[in-house]
Amino acid sequence: MTDAQVLNIGFDDTDSPKGMCTTFLAYKIVDFLKKQNAQFLDFPKLIRFNPNIPWKTRGNGAVSLQIKTTTPSKIKNQIKHLVEKYSDVKNGANPGLVFYESETIPEQFTEFSKLALWQLINRKQAKIFAAKNNLEIFYQGNGQGLIGAIGAIGYDFRDHTLELLSYRKNSKFGTKRQLPIQSVKTMQEKTFPHTFNSFDNKKNKILIAPHGPDPVFYGVRGENVNSLLQATKILKTDEKLAGYMIFKSNQGTGDHLKNELTIKTMKPYASGKITGIVSRAPKIVKGGHVFFSIKVDEDEIWCAVYKPTKMFFVAKSLIQGDKVCVGGGIRKSSKNHPRIMNLEFINVIYLEKNLVKSNPTCNNCNKKMKSKGKNQGYQCIKCNKKSPNKVLIENPRTIKKQLYLPAVSAHRHLSRPLQRIGRVNIESKFDESVSWFHAYRN
Ligand SMILES: [Zn+2]
Repeated sequence: MTDAQVLNIGFDDTDSPKGMCTTFLAYKIVDFLKKQNAQFLDFPKLIRFNPNIPWKTRGNGAVSLQIKTTTPSKIKNQIKHLVEKYSDVKNGANPGLVFYESETIPEQFTEFSKLALWQLINRKQAKIFAAKNNLEIFYQGNGQGLIGAIGAIGYDFRDHTLELLSYRKNSKFGTKRQLPIQSVKTMQEKTFPHTFNSFDNKKNKILIAPHGPDPVFYGVRGENVNSLLQATKILKTDEKLAGYMIFKSNQGTGDHLKNELTIKTMKPYASGKITGIVSRAPKIVKGGHVFFSIKVDEDEIWCAVYKPTKMFFVAKSLIQGDKVCVGGGIRKSSKNHPRIMNLEFINVIYLEKNLVKSNPTCNNCNKKMKSKGKNQGYQCIKCNKKSPNKVLIENPRTIKKQLYLPAVSAHRHLSRPLQRIGRVNIESKFDESVSWFHAYRN
């Protein structure tokens, strides 16, 4: 018998807006690997990369697997076939598949992965990386998927969440999902705070089920395996599902905004955060969007808060001199606007006193004095007391020194929800005996 090899498998960009799903391909591959008696060394990993790249497929999610096997060649061949079978190339998918045989993941993989989370990486860089590091690669279309495939193998988790994705039977693809609102609401109430972003109470809307033709029935995000399994028992549906799989993920970690941006690294589509002083007061434009600028050293950066984020109130209440740390993605400049950062959070660090000039108040009558005309001073209309100048009064601020996040309905996969602020998940140690994968045989 030959020694077992550790094999890392990464793949990405197998889906299109019209169908299929990279996580479903992962489910099919795991089903196959289980039958081959491969030993799993960790959960399948579902990694979301830079959400501010405009041509990403839906959520920009890639998957990696780490297994031990005595038959790596056979397994690689079968996986190649599965990737070909389950990729939606005719509708624009550009799948990438990568194999790397090693127990440890070298530092350069982590570096590559970080760049894919924060910046724009091109396919050529991925191909050069693969050649330098002895990766076996396969791709179709333009090979855009190679970036995520490599990045998913190299991802360095400082924090993580889990997602349980359940899949429909083929015959149900494209049909309406029957998932009663009340059962999702109850599930959220009973599993909080160990699950997140399942139900939007303000909009009375289910957040765990997609609407499109893809194979996912629902996806529950949370902190540990037990809470996710408990959630599936509370969720009610009459539909017979194909199975489920639990992924370890960077969803809900806010990792894409941990990158400290500088004027130099603020290139188009970069994600990250930066601290500065509000230099131009907020302007509200048609449609309810707010624009303001911050000064970082000698440079000025425009910030935009779009209406669906519901951070309108915070943005419009900022004044010159406030210190803020803002996170988001850089939008390319065009002929109509400069380079702009689209905000995904506003952390108010310092609030300037809001001093405004006002007519003086008469201390006898406690009434505001009236102007007597240009440069003529002010006078009380009751007792005729005079005062030469306007006075500064302090208006109370309507926002606080705190972190402000978008509304749940505007959250992206990577957005860190309020309940996860300050939380680092170290609960989910992998144990092959827990029920992280299941295919119903019915
Ligand atoms: Zn008076």
